[in-house]
Amino acid sequence: MEKVKTTCVYCGTGCQLWLKTRDGKVVDTKPVMPPEFSPGKGKLCIKGWHVHEFINHPDRLTDPLIKNENGKWEKVSWDDALNYITNHFKQVMSENPDNRRIIGCFSSAKCTNEENYVMQKFARAVLKTNNVDHCARLCHSSTVVGLGASFGSGAMTNSIDEIPDAEIIFIIGSNTNEQHPLIGTRVLEALKKGAKLIVADPRTIPLSELAEDNGGIALQHRPGTDVALLNGIMNVIINEKLYDEEFVLQNCENLDAFKEEIIKMTPEEASRITGVPKGKIIEAARMIGKAETTYLIYSMGITQHTSGVDNVKSTANLQMLCGNVGKWATGVNPLRGQNNVQGACDMGALPNVFTGYQSVTDPVVRKKFASEWGIEEKEMDEQIGQTVVEMIDAAYQEQLKMLYVMGENPLMSDPDSNHVREALQKTFLIVQDIFMTPTAELARVVLPAASFAEKDGTFTSTERRVQMVRKAIEPVGYSKADWEILSLLAQKMGYTGLNYKNVGEILAEINRTTPIYGGITWERLEQNEEGLQWPCPDTSHPGTIFLHKEGRFSRGKGYFHPVSYREPAELPDNDYPFILSTGRTLWHFHTGTMSRRSKTLHERVPEGYVEISQEDAGKLQIEDNETIKVATRRGEINIKARVSHKVNRGLIFIPFHFEEAAANILTIAAVDPVAKIPEFKVCAARIEKIIK
Ligand code: SF4
Repeated sequence: MEKVKTTCVYCGTGCQLWLKTRDGKVVDTKPVMPPEFSPGKGKLCIKGWHVHEFINHPDRLTDPLIKNENGKWEKVSWDDALNYITNHFKQVMSENPDNRRIIGCFSSAKCTNEENYVMQKFARAVLKTNNVDHCARLCHSSTVVGLGASFGSGAMTNSIDEIPDAEIIFIIGSNTNEQHPLIGTRVLEALKKGAKLIVADPRTIPLSELAEDNGGIALQHRPGTDVALLNGIMNVIINEKLYDEEFVLQNCENLDAFKEEIIKMTPEEASRITGVPKGKIIEAARMIGKAETTYLIYSMGITQHTSGVDNVKSTANLQMLCGNVGKWATGVNPLRGQNNVQGACDMGALPNVFTGYQSVTDPVVRKKFASEWGIEEKEMDEQIGQTVVEMIDAAYQEQLKMLYVMGENPLMSDPDSNHVREALQKTFLIVQDIFMTPTAELARVVLPAASFAEKDGTFTSTERRVQMVRKAIEPVGYSKADWEILSLLAQKMGYTGLNYKNVGEILAEINRTTPIYGGITWERLEQNEEGLQWPCPDTSHPGTIFLHKEGRFSRGKGYFHPVSYREPAELPDNDYPFILSTGRTLWHFHTGTMSRRSKTLHERVPEGYVEISQEDAGKLQIEDNETIKVATRRGEINIKARVSHKVNRGLIFIPFHFEEAAANILTIAAVDPVAKIPEFKVCAARIEKIIK
């Protein structure tokens, strides 16, 4: 048996692992043990231990496929598939001279940095459009916007290793132990060292119970009331003069306008809106205000709202107010859900920025990229492109003629799946993936991609750490690495600027064009077991453990945004009396395409479920494990009931991994006005018993 060291492909923690191979197949996984570096410190979670199980699954796509006139798939050669796509691109582009909004590309948080770089370059240099986005839009676009506006950088300010040294850990909207288990273990380590935990979550998550058992506080606020809760906490901190006046006066701006807003949200008012007892709000405020260090963690419970950007800005306001930015064991720390969602954003797989968040509307930046890519500056799209949700709407309106999807599954990941299905059926859809996903089923062409175990590259973890992905086996069947497929397609389209010999060449181009990645070279990564954290501007730079050191914010001064509470887009009423919230489980990952093909994970949780409170189940005479109907204004699904103490009366929760009980048939496509992130965490729903 041979073994190759690589990076876990599931969540954004970035655990290092060995893939063990025999006879050209990956047969086992083991953690990289200390003293070698790994964010998981020699451990893996259940998903990591079994990451090899989907790689050689018989469902893997092995050949390019074209759908014939009868709707049946036909295996074709790479040449035929790429010629077919090229002819369609050329035809659509010639029929629509201003083609900047008629073609779109979805990049992928599961693919490597190099592949995301290549995808956005393909969109911009070959298809001449900024219509490129990926599913960060659906999870952390509010982080990129909100923290960017507050601090000047939309990433985790601090590192995982700092967690055990924090005095207070404040977790809001993150089920850390289930979604980022190896970060969860660092929280447990902190508790053992004497840290106190404050957990704010509408559900009773494992950490809520742990917080209360260890002298901390659990705040169970109503879904969508995060701004009211945070403003209420800050109201107490300001009134009791517990904030860090010196830090604020020296390093931040717009304090007076911010205070005017905060004064309105008294603890009484915050309690009325959130449902959290006033005393608990005051207690949490005093704990944070009096502590030397508070490490704030959040995730999609904060971001996936129509007020997502406001929620993020509120977390930034709190930490600036208390001087908890720019020093060890503090900061605002958004945990990224997918392995490379941070990297896909860094690589400019977004409609408004090139790599390293360089604006597409800045002529100096456009000139730099045009020169590097060997194209005329005037050929480049000067306008911000469309987001994932906007491209789906454009397809529905029959304005988006072609959509190229690399490694994403929008039919399951996007809100209001029935609308998404209709949209995808109206456009010429190309899907490049490792399995025949529900989205791929709707495509005209499907291209087989290599999995993470079959290619080299880099992922950037949630703590801005760039780490290597190494090839353990040859690509399955005739599949190819995503960057190679795009490179071949670009050549067919007549563009030679994507002819790379290897991923090292792509990373070298990223180093040249992207200041925050300037010193993160292939050669350094090969020698650095622990990877490198951006910003890392040159090869003499050691990388950056925490951002905004000593209050020197990336944007100059930290900005206090006055944020007022707004209700979610759709609240319960007589017809739809429940709040539906969606999310993930410990046992599965994203739309389930990989984790549901893992034998072990599938055996643990083979099907979807809806959590319902004991009180509501009793009232509706619903038994545990009974199949019930859940309906919203978008659609309905049949799903097993799980009667649970995790949700309060009036709240139901559905994980979105399961195709046959797809939560996103139910969710609402209302979006945050700035980040355009959908409100996956709140919509109105109805429950019905199924009468046989
Ligand atoms: Fe993989 Fe995340 Fe589990 Fe680590 S915590 S093993 S990165 S899924």
